[in-house]
Amino acid sequence: MAGLRIGTAGIPASTKPQTTPKGIVRLAELGLEHMEIEFVRGVRMSEKTAADIKELAQEQGISLTVHAPYYINLNSKEPEKVEASKERILKSARIGAAAGATSVTFHAAFYHDDDPEQVYQVVKRHMEEMLEELERSRVKIRLSPETTGGPTQFGTLEELIRLGQELPGVYPCVDFAHLYARSLGEFNSYEHFAGALRSIRDNLGPEALQALHIHLSGIEHGPRGEKRHLPLAETELNYRAVLQALADFRVQGYLTCESPILEEDALILKGLYAELDQE
Ligand SMILES: [Zn+2]
Repeated sequence: MAGLRIGTAGIPASTKPQTTPKGIVRLAELGLEHMEIEFVRGVRMSEKTAADIKELAQEQGISLTVHAPYYINLNSKEPEKVEASKERILKSARIGAAAGATSVTFHAAFYHDDDPEQVYQVVKRHMEEMLEELERSRVKIRLSPETTGGPTQFGTLEELIRLGQELPGVYPCVDFAHLYARSLGEFNSYEHFAGALRSIRDNLGPEALQALHIHLSGIEHGPRGEKRHLPLAETELNYRAVLQALADFRVQGYLTCESPILEEDALILKGLYAELDQE
């Protein structure tokens, strides 16, 4: 399953009925190659269903990643909320691994009013504990905290690269739309995107670009970062330059399109990437 595999965040809209197995078949019909299983509102998939999905996805040539629930905050002041957050990530990881997914992403934490360095140490400690738990229970899947879309959320690219340096096996999920929104529109040129990939490669090794977990879609930002995802046609994010940088750095991995018009935009990205990749 090499190359840059492009697909949708969850079940394509044109899938009937809207089930994950039908969605996998639909992606293959559309000529797409990847699905992110969306556990964003809770992990409601059994191990048995996951095992069936693994078989079907292999048969259809569709790779899988997982998005853990939104309701996660490893820096909550309430210990039970931190524990529940870890349990949600671990459950997403277990079910995801059973489905053959390679990576699980999540928005790790909020800063609240804490010093970012202190938040970093808190997130790192909880990440370490989760990695140990996955190791103990022999669950093989990558934990990939995501670059987040607003300044109140932990998850700059620098923080996530540092986590990867200090916790071997952890790599960032790079959401280019979030990086753009978080910067209030500044992070929007080929040089920015190429710089991000260069930094990942130089700090985490070339292998980091050989199975990179990526999110890309249109986005709208306000003065506090991310507002909402948009169709590609309506965004000011220079997604063409993102794809050019991915092609130039020969990035391989999984690109999930989180657009409101899922497969339509995923197909646009795939077509454009194929053009740019040949140049
Ligand atoms: Zn996300």
